Amino acid sequence: MPVIGEVPFPMRALLAGARRKEFLLVDLTEELVRAESPSDNKAAVDACVALAAAHAKALGGRVKLHRQKNFGDLLEARLGPKSRTGAAGRTMLLGHLDTVWPLGTLKTMPCRVADGRLWGPGALDMKAGVAMALTAIEILIEAGALNREIVLLLNSDEEVGSPVSRPVTERLAAECVRVYVLEPAQGLAYKTARKGVGNWRIGVIGVAAHAGVDFEKGANAIRELARVIEKVSGWTDLKRGVTVNVGVAGGGSKSNVIPAAAWAEVDSRIVRKADGPRLERRFAALKPDDKSCKLAVSGGINRPPMERTRSTVRLYHEARALAADLGFVLHEASTGGASDGNFTSALGVPTLDGMGAVGEGAHAGHESVLLEHLAPRTALLAGLLAQCARTS
Ligand SMILES: [Zn+2]
Repeated sequence: MPVIGEVPFPMRALLAGARRKEFLLVDLTEELVRAESPSDNKAAVDACVALAAAHAKALGGRVKLHRQKNFGDLLEARLGPKSRTGAAGRTMLLGHLDTVWPLGTLKTMPCRVADGRLWGPGALDMKAGVAMALTAIEILIEAGALNREIVLLLNSDEEVGSPVSRPVTERLAAECVRVYVLEPAQGLAYKTARKGVGNWRIGVIGVAAHAGVDFEKGANAIRELARVIEKVSGWTDLKRGVTVNVGVAGGGSKSNVIPAAAWAEVDSRIVRKADGPRLERRFAALKPDDKSCKLAVSGGINRPPMERTRSTVRLYHEARALAADLGFVLHEASTGGASDGNFTSALGVPTLDGMGAVGEGAHAGHESVLLEHLAPRTALLAGLLAQCARTS
C-alpha cells in the first residue's frame, strides 16, 4: 500500500478514481488518435502535441516545448511541486506522440469503440498510454497526493529511432530517480528488459562487364555480397541473445551484366550492452573475399539494450505489490523490441517499461486497446507515483 506522508493510501480509492474517469480517459485517447501524427509530418505531430500540452496545462503543468525543425516539437511538462533536492523524488513519465501511420489511415482504420476495445491508428502505441499518464496525474491531484515532481516527456520521433529527442530524453532522465515508460504492455506484463538494436548498411562495389563477352574482366558485387551476408548472419548467437538479420538486399541491373553494385540492410539485436561494441568492431572489420570488390559499411548500435538490472527489478516488485492490492497479478517480461526506455536504462536510471495500455496489433491493422484494463492500470500508475513520495 503506498504511503502518503504517514497515512496509508488505499489502492482501492485510486481504482475508484480511475473508474470514475474512465469515460474521460477513453475520450482523451480518442481525441489523440483522431489527431493523426505520422513521425514524418511535423505539422500533424505538432497538432497532436498541442492537444496533450493543453491537457497538461489544465492540470497545472509547467509546459515547455522543445522546438524542432524537421520533427514535431517535444513536450516537456512538469507537474507537482518543484523538486528542491536535485533528482530526489523526481519521476520521469516517458512517451511519444508520433505513430507509424500515414495521414488518412483513419479512413480505413476508423477510431471507434467496439467489442470492448478502442480501435485506431496509434491507439495502443501509444496514445492510450499518454492518456493514462495524464489521467493518473489528475487522479493524484484530486486525491491531494501529487507531492513529488513528475517530468512528463512526450516526443515526436520515437517510431523513427528518436534522432532528435534522444539527447533531451537523456538529459531529463538524468535529473530523475526513475523512469516509467508508457509503451504498451507485453501481453499483461510490464517490461523489465529490452534488446538493443543496431542497424547497418553494407554496400559492395564490383566491376561491371558483359557477362558473355568480358566475363573474366568483371567482379560480381552480388556474389561478394552473398558471401558477406553468410558471414554476418553467422554472428547470430541465440544463446547470448544476439541476432543478425539481413532484411533487405538488392543489386545488379540486367542478367547479362556482371553487377557493379549490391547492397544489404541489416538489423541486429543484443541483450547485453557489451555485445554492442563487439558487433560494431566486427562490422567495421569486414573485408571482401574478392579483392576486386570494395565494401562500404555504415551504421552501428542505435539503441543500447535495456538490461534487467537490480534497480529495474525493484521497480517491478513495487508495481507487483500494488497490483496485488488492486486484485491482479502483474508479471514481468522481456522483449526484442526497443523503446526510449533503452536510452534511460543505459544511463543507469532505473527504468520500468510497458506501463501503458493493454491491447493488440501495434503497427498492424487491428491495433486496439482493451478497455477493461484501462482503469486498473491507470490506478496502478497513480499508486506508483504516490508511492514515490515514500521511497525517495
Ligand atoms: Zn511506441
